[in-house]
Amino acid sequence: MQIPAYKLLFISTPVGAIGTGIGGGVELTLFNITQEMTRRGHKVEIVAPQGSVMQQFTVKEIAGKLQTPAQNQTRNSPITMLKNSVLANMWDYARQVQADYDLIVNFAYDWLPLYLTPFFNCPIAHFISMGSLIDAIDQIIESVAIEFPNTIGVYTQSQADTFSCAEQCYCLLNGLDLSIYQFCPKPTQSLAWVGRIAPEKGLEDAVAAAEITGITLKIFGLKQDVSYWEKICQEHPDAPIEYVGFLPTVELQKELGKCRAVLVTPRWIEAFGNVAIEALACGVPLIAYRRGGLTEIVQSGKTGFLVEPDSVQGLVEAIEHLDEIDRRACRQQAETLYSLEAMGDRTEAWFQKILRIGYPETA
Ligand code: UDP
Repeated sequence: MQIPAYKLLFISTPVGAIGTGIGGGVELTLFNITQEMTRRGHKVEIVAPQGSVMQQFTVKEIAGKLQTPAQNQTRNSPITMLKNSVLANMWDYARQVQADYDLIVNFAYDWLPLYLTPFFNCPIAHFISMGSLIDAIDQIIESVAIEFPNTIGVYTQSQADTFSCAEQCYCLLNGLDLSIYQFCPKPTQSLAWVGRIAPEKGLEDAVAAAEITGITLKIFGLKQDVSYWEKICQEHPDAPIEYVGFLPTVELQKELGKCRAVLVTPRWIEAFGNVAIEALACGVPLIAYRRGGLTEIVQSGKTGFLVEPDSVQGLVEAIEHLDEIDRRACRQQAETLYSLEAMGDRTEAWFQKILRIGYPETA
């Protein structure tokens, strides 16, 4: 069936400008969906905080104060709106231009866009990037899921299961432009850890595993929580670690591909784990905690190992078994499940479901 060309308004996360790494996996997800939807002939406009840069795409930059990331808040945290909030300003812009679009796609994990859903005439799809963290956000996700069927998109079923409206969530997984990720058949001895350096990512366990095995751990990512990083360095002064920095995708994949495995050690229910599929795309096996979306990505024994969550010993044992993994199987999994095309089909089907099946009457 021919899908009509949609006019899409994508609204980015308000926690940081695109390109800084503060937005985590959402930055890459937004870029990849934009790339694929544009390739398919849809018209996409991106709205994001001032200072955002997204390669060949023009971004409508909006000024204002950045929102505090949800992972730095507690379950009972109230919803806070700052004076001159970039979140409010982006949605004010969306309100003004909504008549020019068929669908608005919200990439923020925030209360406001969900709350605004019934007040807009243009349908809104919400791509929820994290599992349940804050009660007030859970509540608004649940009420939108019921009032506006199919509009809550998630990465994985494990992520959906953290919400009481799991059955109403639409699973999208994710995808990558595989042409920029090179398969590397012969790695060095080094292991890698990739991600925002923040407590929910559990970097200290990967560092501890490096210390025990004596194998170098290369660390890639933004030092989002500097005191957390310093504490790890103080507690493991002799661990063989090498902080490489936050690299753009093209350079990241080049370095990542040379590693023997990527350790993925989240303390929280990781909604997906973009870094996991990026590793697979380079042919790099995963050693990951059996937690959240990673349980749906890692094919244990084939493209890596799922280990007991929070077990450094589990990481060490998996490292000893790395020779059992065929790196070609890793790349193969990325090609089958996480190509831009596969992701584009899932995302387009989601948009279609919202727009074709109908959207309840709005304000
Ligand atoms: N990343 C990057 N350069 C680096 C390290 C990480 O671009 O040096 C990106 C990586 O490609 C991924 C994101 O940071 O898209 C981390 O996303 P993930 O989904 O793994 O976790 P999140 O930060 O969203 O919790």
